[in-house]
Amino acid sequence: MPVNIPAYTALKEELDAAGVTLVAVSKTKPVEDIQALYDLGQRDFGENYVQELVDKQAQLPADIRWHFIGHLQSNKVKYIAPFVHLIHGIDSEKLLREVSKQAEKNGRSIEVLLQMHIAKEETKFGLDETELNAILQLMQEPPVPAGVKVRGLMGMASFSDDQNLVRSEFRQLSELFRYHRPLMFEAVRFDTLSMGMSGDYRLAIAEGSNLVRIGSLLFGARN
Ligand SMILES: *Cc1c(COP(=O)(O)O)cnc(C)c1O
Repeated sequence: MPVNIPAYTALKEELDAAGVTLVAVSKTKPVEDIQALYDLGQRDFGENYVQELVDKQAQLPADIRWHFIGHLQSNKVKYIAPFVHLIHGIDSEKLLREVSKQAEKNGRSIEVLLQMHIAKEETKFGLDETELNAILQLMQEPPVPAGVKVRGLMGMASFSDDQNLVRSEFRQLSELFRYHRPLMFEAVRFDTLSMGMSGDYRLAIAEGSNLVRIGSLLFGARN
């Protein structure tokens, strides 16, 4: 199935009006599909798998901002560290430290979001509030990991038709985001709240999201 251009145009207009950033989630989709949206001006793309991201990055324009939105293993950070724009899924201190180390090796700093566990489902990854506070503490007291900048939070709601459940999970994350928003440290500045996908992005925006990660609505269903 080709990229749904009318869906992209309509979505972009809706999100621009709301001041929300669109990350087009292109996992499992061919580079031709990414190029088609690039040609319309889209620059932010999201991928879940390290090898796939590395392969695609090499074949596509250098000014694409690549978002890593999947579960990232520490031993694979080095492959994406030279070019990744934003890592959404930081879910441990160990991973944060590895990202910092690899960023420094590449002479750059890497922006990251801390992934919170908000869903009822046990299967989803993410930090609880105690772990979040520990990481924020770590980022404020020397020696601060020098290669990372924390820009906010990311979360995934339960995969459920229960709108009230999804809304309450988004609200919980949004409240946490707003609570930490005033933080202003060299390495911590909360300005990005990444929540919302094809099926729930409107609910997420209503609850305060300013970045949505949208795949199937644009590229069609994945196999
Ligand atoms: C696949 C994925 C998305 C996009 O999901 P769609 O339902 O296709 O929009 C968003 N966020 C994450 C973390 C994903 O893994």
